[in-house]
Amino acid sequence: MSQSEHFDTVILGSGQGGKQLAWHLARSGQKVAVVERRWVGGSCPAVACLPSKNEIWSARVAHLARNAARFGTLTGPIKIDMAKVRGRKQDMIDREIAFHLKAYKESGAKLIMGSGRFVEPKTIEVALNDGGMRLLTGKEAVINVGSHAAIPNIPGLEAARALTHIEALELDYVPAHLIVLGGGYIGVEMAQAYRRFGSRVTIIEPGYQLMSREDADVATEMQRVLTGEDIEILLDAQPVNVHGLSGDEVSVTIHTASGERTITGSDLLVATGRIPNTADIGLEQTGVELDARGFIRVNERLETTASGVWAIGECAGSPQFTHVSVDDFRIVRDNMAGGNRRTDERLVPYVMFTDPPLARVGLSEGEAQRKNIPVRVANADGQCVADGSDGRNRGLHESACECDGRQDIGIHHDRLRGGRGNGCGSDGDAGGTSIYADARCGYYPSDNSRRAGTAPRRHPSTRCRLDHAAKQMEGGQTSGYSRRSID
Ligand SMILES: Cc1cc2nc3c(=O)[nH]c(=O)nc-3n(C[C@H](O)[C@H](O)[C@H](O)COP(=O)(O)OP(=O)(O)OC[C@H]3O[C@@H](n4cnc5c(N)ncnc54)[C@H](O)[C@@H]3O)c2cc1C
Repeated sequence: MSQSEHFDTVILGSGQGGKQLAWHLARSGQKVAVVERRWVGGSCPAVACLPSKNEIWSARVAHLARNAARFGTLTGPIKIDMAKVRGRKQDMIDREIAFHLKAYKESGAKLIMGSGRFVEPKTIEVALNDGGMRLLTGKEAVINVGSHAAIPNIPGLEAARALTHIEALELDYVPAHLIVLGGGYIGVEMAQAYRRFGSRVTIIEPGYQLMSREDADVATEMQRVLTGEDIEILLDAQPVNVHGLSGDEVSVTIHTASGERTITGSDLLVATGRIPNTADIGLEQTGVELDARGFIRVNERLETTASGVWAIGECAGSPQFTHVSVDDFRIVRDNMAGGNRRTDERLVPYVMFTDPPLARVGLSEGEAQRKNIPVRVANADGQCVADGSDGRNRGLHESACECDGRQDIGIHHDRLRGGRGNGCGSDGDAGGTSIYADARCGYYPSDNSRRAGTAPRRHPSTRCRLDHAAKQMEGGQTSGYSRRSID
């Protein structure tokens, strides 16, 4: 074994918050090492948010072209070149890799490519990707190892070599019939995209509604949107077994209230949840405890149960969004410097990048009711957006405000939106979706407004880039923008 190398901070996993922390600490003069086994920049720019949004935008272009005649633009027959779709996405990833490598170089943080595991509380042993081992010790350690797609224990599923989002985003053909196991956010986004590329699509969801965390009326509206695009949705459908091979012919037998049924398709995508990457990383050597589901136990300051060891992002049980992992970074950064920032004081916005998108911040009506908070609800259907861009009555708006009898004190959320097609990737890359969603997600009435300034911005968005620009203008250091003086 090689001799131990000493750092101020060692970070296991280059997730969304971890890399920001590394760049920040290194720029502040610390000696920092980040261990990453596969993706420079973590999963978001390589296999998750950005590539999925990129392909979703390609799918939207196909959808608009196919429906162009409705708007008075006549085109010929539409043909999808999936190799080109994939190539456009890969170009974006390559630019992201170059951007990240530059940020590591400029900040001085060391990126070490290899698989890491703890051998002592703050010592990581790294099996380097190009051979050999290194031993890294820090005064403090941060864990930001993310999660991976769960593969449920259904007979025949493993042998069917089903796709996860990673392989689905690498396809260079349009599946004839894509079966999607799971009606959560990832499954729904991918289902709509592949339908728009031309696949026949069937979603199998064991629960009674799509997107189990949303209120029933939101899920029903999304179901209406998707079935309007001829996506087949099977709810309360328990998969019994799988036969065949994804990419060739694959069939899923489901149990429903009306009996058993077998759906046969060409490809199978599994999107049934996430499992934290906390197994086999030596946490038993550290005193870092896990909860019953394998997530790292942290307090509101993101401290683990081991002194001087912090955790960030999905592995710490934070809501599963890039902007939350980045907000975790801000919390750890400030707390490492002696501050007292907490996770339980933040409002988390998010967007599901369907068309129309689902945008939400704060409690839903159902969540408020479960907390015994009396709410007033106002809603309107998508038709009320009179910009005429879509021309269809799709989506709804809804706001719920806590009502104490005198004033609204600040639960607000917004839902599906029909209308304006300001989709992701419109600028040619990953881009942002609805500006409207941003406006809503940045709006906090009365009590909550004082928190709006520090609230995480949903990702990806133009707004989060503007935050970088604003910080740069204030003289702070950010990546991706250069400051120019205007005389
Ligand atoms: C298809 C898809 C679409 C998504 N779209 C969005 C979206 O639009 N907006 C949004 O906000 N969120 C989205 N998400 C969620 C978002 O990608 C994650 O929440 C985000 O990446 C946060 O990740 P993280 O910081 O926890 O870790 P990650 O970014 O996952 O990084 C963890 C890193 O740790 C590395 N690692 C793990 N174990 C080890 C080890 N032992 N040694 C070395 N390295 C290791 C991994 O290789 C990985 O690079 C999407 C997710 C998926 C799957």
